[in-house]
Amino acid sequence: PGHWNAKGQEEKILVSVRLRPLDVKENSRYHVSDWECINVNTIIYKNSLSLPERSQFPTAYTFDRVFGQNCSTREVYDEGAKEVALSVVNGINSSIFAYGQTSSGKTYTMTGITEYAVSDIYDYVERHRDREFKLKFSAMEIYNEALRDLLSSDSAPLRLLDDPERGTVVDKLTEETLRDRNHLQELLSICEAQRQIGETALNETSSRSHQILRLTIESSAHKFVGAENSSSLAATVSFVDLAGSERASQTLSEGTRLKEGCHINRSLLTLGTVIRKLSKGRNVHIPYRDSKLTRILQNSLGGNARTAIICTMSPARSHIEQSRNTLLFASCAK
Ligand code: ADP
Ligand code: MG
Repeated sequence: PGHWNAKGQEEKILVSVRLRPLDVKENSRYHVSDWECINVNTIIYKNSLSLPERSQFPTAYTFDRVFGQNCSTREVYDEGAKEVALSVVNGINSSIFAYGQTSSGKTYTMTGITEYAVSDIYDYVERHRDREFKLKFSAMEIYNEALRDLLSSDSAPLRLLDDPERGTVVDKLTEETLRDRNHLQELLSICEAQRQIGETALNETSSRSHQILRLTIESSAHKFVGAENSSSLAATVSFVDLAGSERASQTLSEGTRLKEGCHINRSLLTLGTVIRKLSKGRNVHIPYRDSKLTRILQNSLGGNARTAIICTMSPARSHIEQSRNTLLFASCAK
């Protein structure tokens, strides 16, 4: 069953928040966690007496699902991403995002989710012997609006092309056909290595780049079962580990003038706009073409596609501003 809103329409964007535990450093300095998930939908700010601007600060936030400090990634996957990820086996495109400030747990969460999803997809494939499946994997990174193939050692930026039939395609992107479950593990280590080479070369950290892992599943009924045309399906699930949201936070605090240059991450800002507009409903112009990330994901956002956003946050008092920005982003996406 899908998620339904009050009007009885199916929600296309599933929004959850995951609060990570305090890390050792935060723990010794503050000894407090300011946030608490009081039920499966609500996260509250517990320290309202010390608020900087009391009037402007809501202390309770409601989402499709919130995951407290003791929740495992398995739970986050099962309730915040699984259904969206698995829609791909029925031919429906989907995308799963991790959004949050640097060190809030995006990579930790997305790595686990990708692993569980791939395992579930393989379980599905093995249970459906009447169909023939082909799984293809590709991986890329967007840094400063330059796109790089994470499965290739060629660091030349990739170009986006407009294909009349398929929409935006990434020219010359490596696409590996997966042999089995273990093959993906191998490819993921190649991506990780490529990512680190890139960071060293640019003297940068992953906090500024977006990583997109894509799994395309094609399936068709065996010829003797039925007419192939009527029963072949193809769809893509994208797992997106976004740049640190501190790169876009300027937009959310009104009155702050936008800083120029590399402080603004165009893809992250455009994604925010696209998601806000999609959640508002139909008949509005969606500016997919304004950034590389949203162009690449256009077929996996909006329309019939399913989307899950997991917003990660630190419970530490020192991160209150960023945590609040993350909750505002999550609220706008609902
Ligand atoms: P980000 O990708 O958002 O910058 P990371 O995923 O790298 O953040 O997480 C920062 C650190 O916190 C890592 O050491 C990670 O292992 C740890 N961490 C993140 N989320 C959790 C969690 N839910 N439980 C335990 N440790 C976590
Ligand atoms: Mg990370």
